[in-house]
Amino acid sequence: MISPIHYRITPIRPEAHIFEVSCTVTDPDPEGQRFALPAWIPGSYLVRDFARHIVTIRANQGATGRGKALTVEKLDKHTWRCEPVTGAITVTCEVYAWDLSVRGAHLDTTHAFFNGTSVFLRVLGKEDRRCDVEIAAPRGARYRRWEVATALKRRRAPQWGFGIYTAADYDELIDHPVELGSFSRKTFLAKSIPHEIVITGRHRADMDRLARDMKRICETQIEFFGAPAPMERYVFMITAVGEGYGGLEHRASTALMCARKDLPTPGMKEPTEGYRGFLGLVSHEYFHTWNVKRIKPAAFTPYDLNHENHTTLLWAFEGLTSYYDDLMLLRSGLLTEEKYLETLGRSITQLLRTPGRKKQSVTDSSFDAWTKYYRQDENSPNAIVSYYGKGSLVGLCLDLHIRNSTGGRKSLDDVMLALWKKHGKTGVGVAEDGVERLAEAVTKLNLKRLFERWLRSTTELPLKELLASHGVELVLRPAQSESDKGGLGPVKSTSLPAHAEVRVAIGGRGTPAAGEFRLTHVLEGGAAQKAGLSAGDAIVALDSIRVGTGGLEAALCGRRPGETVSVHAFRRDELMQFEMRLDAAPSDTCVLRVAEDRNREARRLRMRWLC
Ligand code: ZN
Repeated sequence: MISPIHYRITPIRPEAHIFEVSCTVTDPDPEGQRFALPAWIPGSYLVRDFARHIVTIRANQGATGRGKALTVEKLDKHTWRCEPVTGAITVTCEVYAWDLSVRGAHLDTTHAFFNGTSVFLRVLGKEDRRCDVEIAAPRGARYRRWEVATALKRRRAPQWGFGIYTAADYDELIDHPVELGSFSRKTFLAKSIPHEIVITGRHRADMDRLARDMKRICETQIEFFGAPAPMERYVFMITAVGEGYGGLEHRASTALMCARKDLPTPGMKEPTEGYRGFLGLVSHEYFHTWNVKRIKPAAFTPYDLNHENHTTLLWAFEGLTSYYDDLMLLRSGLLTEEKYLETLGRSITQLLRTPGRKKQSVTDSSFDAWTKYYRQDENSPNAIVSYYGKGSLVGLCLDLHIRNSTGGRKSLDDVMLALWKKHGKTGVGVAEDGVERLAEAVTKLNLKRLFERWLRSTTELPLKELLASHGVELVLRPAQSESDKGGLGPVKSTSLPAHAEVRVAIGGRGTPAAGEFRLTHVLEGGAAQKAGLSAGDAIVALDSIRVGTGGLEAALCGRRPGETVSVHAFRRDELMQFEMRLDAAPSDTCVLRVAEDRNREARRLRMRWLC
């Protein structure tokens, strides 16, 4: 019998953020067993070099970690080789864990959260072996109430308890994050699958409400792809913080980070905007259970954990997931049609405010996720487009085009279901042109030219026409304030009424601080760029009058497009002066509304789309 790899993880010094992690191999490579830590975590496309957090590493003969010391040689930034021996060896590391995010590992005296990619060494050549993990409790009275939450299978551990957990292989091991602490929890069944909600961090969330709403999302999605769901149980691991938003998908769980104010409070009736955003995140990560965790790009089967794994398909795996996340909220009754259109209007606004959409296609954006999307800088809005944002709108266009061209008989749903059947259920990876080919096969439409334009060029998407064919009017207007995200009126016509004040724009984004406006981004071709202002500059005065507590918005109030203002700004510690000719605020803010015309076919298509 092939013996499993045995891991043991202990939060030995929570106050110093140190885990002790050991890995025992009973039959090491006779040439010298090699061990490595992944360079990245699947789902988050950035090389993070987790091995840099290994503080110490040693190897000993035997399974206890206390046998004869062995030599360990470092081969590259994340690989070690132990001297050749016969019989079991144990490698023991101290791992520093102080990254409170969904992607790393975190440990302090209040709780612990870790992904296997940050702590468990991969035993090279033995990745297919079963992995047993002993999760040990920290020592001390203050940790007495700590429990364990994970979607890993229990082997010898009480429910929610410390003990031995197991995974079929290394790939499964690192796809099950673990939370340790005294957290709130709540269980619900969705289509007879147990789902657990675990919240760590201070909060006063209405757990019953959460369970009720999340159950609706889960059931809608299981129904969509077809029961039974592809997992035996599912865990939502939520960290509530003051400010934060993010999630990472796994095959039977997800790690979410949210602002505690976005969780529902007891007595809340209508969902707040923050709570709607949180439900959208839940819906997004849950949809990944099918789309990316099981329907995967061929480039990810298997993952190469040493290097970047390039694919042009993130528009489909992240973009289509983003299209469906809110659509699933609508279908589960958690968003009204009106709110759905508002959310969609905001996504369109975001795209229109990204000059980089004219520079980068959505497939290039996918391919360069590692070096561009995940490593954004002050020039990113000018140079790149998000495969989430544009990808979701490509999904919208594709859905509406298919519905339109087939008289509503087919839709993007059929494409997703075909992907699930052909790739998700079989584990066969999706080739780089696989989504396009399957979409054509399923709909019997020739989509070549459209894909060429929407995926591989920077041509604008035909959003207005396609929405109109479904009885939805797309109206553009200038932003009415710095915080105007679009999606909402007032909209009377496509141009502002004559008496309304025309807002001016400087073509820059920034953060207001006391008495200054610090530019974070200077947009391509805008007034700020033409004047010579740069990201990082702190604007302190306009026409020699100090920018007050009202910020730049107040300082520009009453100005007219075409007017030239003198700008004083600090670049580093040098005061500089610029002449800036103000632009009129562009019509980059999108509002969607149901068209009033009586086009019955458009109405019928809309009802089918937003049912
Ligand atoms: Zn995602």
